[in-house]
Order: sequence, then structure tokens, then C-alpha cells
Amino acid sequence: MARKRVHLTPEEIAAYVDGGLRSNEFAAANTHLAACADCVRLLANTVKTRQELVAGINGELLAACAMFTAAAHEVRDLLNAKGLACPASIAYAAEKARHAIESAKAVKS
Ligand SMILES: [Zn+2]
Repeated sequence: MARKRVHLTPEEIAAYVDGGLRSNEFAAANTHLAACADCVRLLANTVKTRQELVAGINGELLAACAMFTAAAHEVRDLLNAKGLACPASIAYAAEKARHAIESAKAVKS
């Protein structure tokens, strides 16, 4: 094995973040990271980008849950106005979506 200092590639950094490195690769990456500020910066940026991506996806999911809840309530009201019962599956799904929104709000506050 060459002792030459070789920077981690963006692919290796991504695998490091995702837990995709073998234990010997992980150990080698840790050794390099302990001595290389450049790669630590790249690692920090990668983690930040991942967090922003997850936050964005969570935001879209929450918006979808809110729209679904509103749509389910509209369907329920339309059916009720015609004297028909809302299918249990719609009520159940709307309740699940409402619960997901409540849980997300609880985590944020
Ligand atoms: Zn490096």
C-alpha cells in the first residue's frame, strides 16, 4: 500500500455518509479525515446537502399530506351532503395524514 496521501473521492465521501464503506475502507477514510481539512470540509458539505435534501422531501410530503387531508374532507362532505357515508378507507387515510402532520409539527417545535 502506498503511503502517499490521496484525497477521498466524492463517491467515497458519499459512501462514507451512507455507511456504504467496508470496515477497512471506513478505517482508512477515518485515518485520512483525521489529517485532512479539505476532505473534512467536503464531508461536512455532503452531510449538509443530504440534510437539506431530506428537509425538502419532508416539506413536500407534509404539503401532500395536507392536500390529501383537505381533499378527503371535501369528499366526505360531498358524500354526506348526498346522504352517503364516507368510505372507512378514506376516513382512515385522512386521519393518518393528519397524524403525520401533527407528528412533524411536534418534532419541529
Ligand atoms: Zn483529503
